[in-house]
Amino acid sequence: MTLDCIFCRIATGDIPAQIVGRSDHAVAFRDLSPQAPTHILVIPIRHLASAAEATGPAGGELLGEVMALGVEVAATLGLAESGYRFVMNTGREGGQTVHHLHLHVLGGRQMRWPPG
Ligand code: AMP
Repeated sequence: MTLDCIFCRIATGDIPAQIVGRSDHAVAFRDLSPQAPTHILVIPIRHLASAAEATGPAGGELLGEVMALGVEVAATLGLAESGYRFVMNTGREGGQTVHHLHLHVLGGRQMRWPPG
C-alpha cells in the first residue's frame, strides 16, 4: 500500500469506485473517464508501479491473475461474444498516467487498429 497512490486507495476502499469484480489479489472497477461503453480497470492489490516491475515467477503469477479477472469481468459484463480489448499502458512512451499497474478492459464498440 502506497499512501499517495490513488489505485492503492481504491483497492483498500479508502477512495470510492464502482467495483465490478475481485479475486484474491486483484480488484476490477469502472474507469472514471470511460473510452468505450464498457471500460474497466483491473489492478493488483499489491502496489507495482507498472508491468515492468512484474518480473519473475511472482510477477508472472500476478499478471496472470489480473488478466484472468479481466476475462471473468468481461464475460460477466456480456462482452465475451462480441469481443473486447486488453490494454496495459507501461511507462512514459506507453502512455501510462497512473503509476500502479492496471489492465484496461474496453468493449461495447468496434475497436480500431493501430492504436494511437
Ligand atoms: P493510464 O493512462 O493507462 O495510466 O490509465 C489510467 C486510467 O485511470 C485512466 O483511464 C483514468 O481515467 C483512470 N482513472 C484515474 N483516476 C481514477 C479513479 N479515481 N477511478 C477510476 N478510474 C480512474
